[in-house]
Amino acid sequence: MSMQSDLELVSLTKRYGDALAVDAISHHFKAGVYACLLGPSGCGKSSTLRMIAGHESVSDGSIVLGGRDVSHLPPAKRGTAMMFQSYALFPHLSVRDNVAFSLRMAGVDKATRLKRADEMLALVEMQKYADRKPDQLSGGQQQRVALARALITRPQVLLLDEPLSALDPFLRIRMRSELKKLQRELGISFIHVTHGQDEALALADEIIVMNNAVIEQSGPAREVFNAPRTAFVARFMGGHNVLDLPQGKFALRSDEMVVTPAAAGKIDGRVSGIEYQGTHVALTATVAGEQDVTALIPEAQFFETPRDLGEVIGLGWDERAAHPLAS
Ligand code: ADP
Ligand code: MG
Repeated sequence: MSMQSDLELVSLTKRYGDALAVDAISHHFKAGVYACLLGPSGCGKSSTLRMIAGHESVSDGSIVLGGRDVSHLPPAKRGTAMMFQSYALFPHLSVRDNVAFSLRMAGVDKATRLKRADEMLALVEMQKYADRKPDQLSGGQQQRVALARALITRPQVLLLDEPLSALDPFLRIRMRSELKKLQRELGISFIHVTHGQDEALALADEIIVMNNAVIEQSGPAREVFNAPRTAFVARFMGGHNVLDLPQGKFALRSDEMVVTPAAAGKIDGRVSGIEYQGTHVALTATVAGEQDVTALIPEAQFFETPRDLGEVIGLGWDERAAHPLAS
């Protein structure tokens, strides 16, 4: 098992020419955390990850791992390892040689590196494929090999850039539980970049939401979901309505909305959408100011009092469910 270390980003900045891709972000990752960097395309997630890995230079600020400033060390000297967006296995090498590759580069003798490669393949349950070539593997199997290849250097921090994006939805869900299990077994930190909020919620001890090159909010997954601080976070996490009313702007979970007869709730709205979702029905209503509000209603409850498009309804909620927003 690897040594455990906290990772600290201090005013970390990335500029590409005049463009600011990462704007002085600071964050403390506790040792052994499963952290997800979450945000829309272009917000600076990959740049942040690549700077941590040492595959991209730091424009300003620093990266401190286990109390040591690693900002200017080469990737192999940092104690980090990166699993790339595309797994990029070497097609001409066997699975075992792919996994052993970085040890070969480091000059480790053949017997040792093959033994370590077999240990890593056992860890990801791929021993029996050791002699195959990458193109003889499924997408999920290739991904496990890529993981083994990243882990063989015994990193303190594993960096994963959208590791599940190339998989079909079924495999994606299976692989994400395997990632979580592996992280628990190894006890090292995983920093996982994703633009999918469901993936972040499913995996992360801590979610770091990025937007426009800065960290918009960070915290435990439940806290970020239940108490979004900004309209952006509420919208991006999904499952929330952002309501701008005379008393202020706030976020309100769709499953906390109560549908009432007209004038019996807090506000009235006209039903503009009804979507059957299996366990729930998503009812959308347009309220004052042309704002769309979604109420997620358990399906049995909806069909007890079905609503029609165009119908005027009331919408209510418990005051405690309304979270004021900063912007
Ligand atoms: P994300 O991973 O969140 O999609 P990136 O870190 O890849 O975001 O990109 C952040 C911003 O930096 C984007 O505007 C992107 O176009 C720009 N960018 C990324 N890589 C480069 C590069 N090598 N040269 C110039 N601009 C880049
Ligand atoms: Mg990216």
